[in-house]
Amino acid sequence: MKSFDLTGRIAFVTGGNGGIGLGMAEGLAAAGATVVIAGRDKSKAEAALKALRAHGGEADFATLDVVSEQSCKDTIGQVASRFGRLDILINNAGTSVRKAPEQVTAAEWHQVIDTNLTSALLCSQAAYPHMAKAGGGKIINTGSVMSILASGWSAPYAASKGGIVQLARSLAVAWAKDNIQVNTILPGWIDTDMSRGARKQVEGLDERVLARTPAARWGKPEDFAGIAVFLASAASDFVTGTAIPIDGGYTVQM
Ligand code: NDP
Repeated sequence: MKSFDLTGRIAFVTGGNGGIGLGMAEGLAAAGATVVIAGRDKSKAEAALKALRAHGGEADFATLDVVSEQSCKDTIGQVASRFGRLDILINNAGTSVRKAPEQVTAAEWHQVIDTNLTSALLCSQAAYPHMAKAGGGKIINTGSVMSILASGWSAPYAASKGGIVQLARSLAVAWAKDNIQVNTILPGWIDTDMSRGARKQVEGLDERVLARTPAARWGKPEDFAGIAVFLASAASDFVTGTAIPIDGGYTVQM
């Protein structure tokens, strides 16, 4: 179907060097986009770039620290000037601190909020003039089922992921005039480096996830390829400000 075609589009994916970000980046590359994945750890990027280039298109890595306003501005500006445009931004970089709220330090709070939420504003601001000039664009944020549900050990994380949904809605309203659509995906429990850490730290998590998820499995990064293509392509031109669970049914089961 032509409306899903991303040939000639330039995409920038924060945290695209592994996990869910790479799953989305692979979908975009398979649909024809040129994809720049960005993160701090260049060593993780080699395997990611190999997977992306196997789809036949161009792919590159950019060093980025999303907690730095300057880094977001400079890196996105460089990508836009190198390729002459920027059509798709995926705000996916994320981190978590797992502890009881009474033990969370101010520094930990700021680290999670800055990485997961403030970064999405900074990167969107850096991308906006390029998208507006080109007559449109697509921004996809990675939220979480913790955008709508809560646990007793993830207050900063849940706050950041709730916030990113409201940020997306606000940008969707503000930038509809520029033909920029802004949406959020809400992953359930997905098998990645981040959730492997959680499984080590939280006893019984694996069993609880399997018991509660109607699909009866952990999600995989490749489960995100399809939704990324949809939200990055003309197929979703009338979809904006929404938050879509990709969770095997986790949030619909009592
Ligand atoms: P990963 O640990 O594989 O991915 C996290 C990514 O974020 C890494 O690529 C990392 O790259 C990047 N990152 C972290 N901090 C920074 C920073 N300061 N600057 C730039 N990049 C940074 O885990 P996931 O794939 O699971 O996580 C991806 C997103 O999905 C996150 O937003 C997470 O909150 C969300 N999510 C994950 C769920 C899960 O079950 N796995 C469930 C719900 C949401 P690098 O280390 O190179 O900087």
